[in-house]
Amino acid sequence: MNVLGIDVGAGAVKFAVFSKDGLRSFMGEEPTARTYPAFQAQLLDICGRLEKSHGIAAVGVGVPGFISLAERVIERSPNMRFLDGMALERDLAAALALPLAVDNDANAAALGEFLSLDEPRPACFVHLTLGSGIGSGIVLSGRIFHGSDGFAAELGHLLVNSQGRPCGCGNSGCAETESSETGIVRSYQEFACAPDPLSSRDVFARWQAGDEAAREAFRRAGTFLGVLLSQIVYALNPGRISIGGGVAAAGEALLAPAREELARRVVAKAAAGTRIEAARLGNGAGMAGAAALARQQPS
Ligand SMILES: [Zn+2]
Repeated sequence: MNVLGIDVGAGAVKFAVFSKDGLRSFMGEEPTARTYPAFQAQLLDICGRLEKSHGIAAVGVGVPGFISLAERVIERSPNMRFLDGMALERDLAAALALPLAVDNDANAAALGEFLSLDEPRPACFVHLTLGSGIGSGIVLSGRIFHGSDGFAAELGHLLVNSQGRPCGCGNSGCAETESSETGIVRSYQEFACAPDPLSSRDVFARWQAGDEAAREAFRRAGTFLGVLLSQIVYALNPGRISIGGGVAAAGEALLAPAREELARRVVAKAAAGTRIEAARLGNGAGMAGAAALARQQPS
């Protein structure tokens, strides 16, 4: 059966149809609507169109935000505030005659990356998406781990620097204040004493050109990423941690200092048992994972 996987971001809604073998047969993208009623109508319109053209049998949606497990309500969506308090799954299900699953976008991406691995897959798998923040998901025995109430796997808000910067969550020193795109740009601006606005891609281009401040910025981000990895390894002992997102395109500039720091902090056997590698699916992980969630729904 064909299933539809939808990956919602603040800027764009991406969607793809997957066959029962997991092959992608169609992909589309459109700008995300700006109000809740328009957003609901947009998702229903996408579902309606693809049901007609591709005969989809179920729909999975990944959305940014904290989703409570019991009430199926989006408690808070920091980058899409119109979703705060909304029961998106219930509202869509009321208008849709197809099985539907809604989960956090980072959880969906983790499931998508997990399923892209060759078998045998690890019993415990962690995926980190380094973007403007750090999204993360944990897959245990092939299923997304939600914790007791749905708020598990917020790994970007683990403390890595007790003297660190304020974070959007209200704490300070969280991993995402150091190792996200925002963190890298901020470090570069501090090291280069340059307040100009620029992107993490610009900083990486300067790193490639041998810019010393850019090297320091990536080394700092990678080192704090290693601190985060050491906490994940000791808490979960995952067989594999994959790193995706815009910053991950910097590859070894980030991963080499992260592995070094991990090796410094964790007993050798535990570190050796965890493979740290770049994500495989890139931007497609969220759609693939949402489609896998759709497939897990009873029809
Ligand atoms: Zn935080």
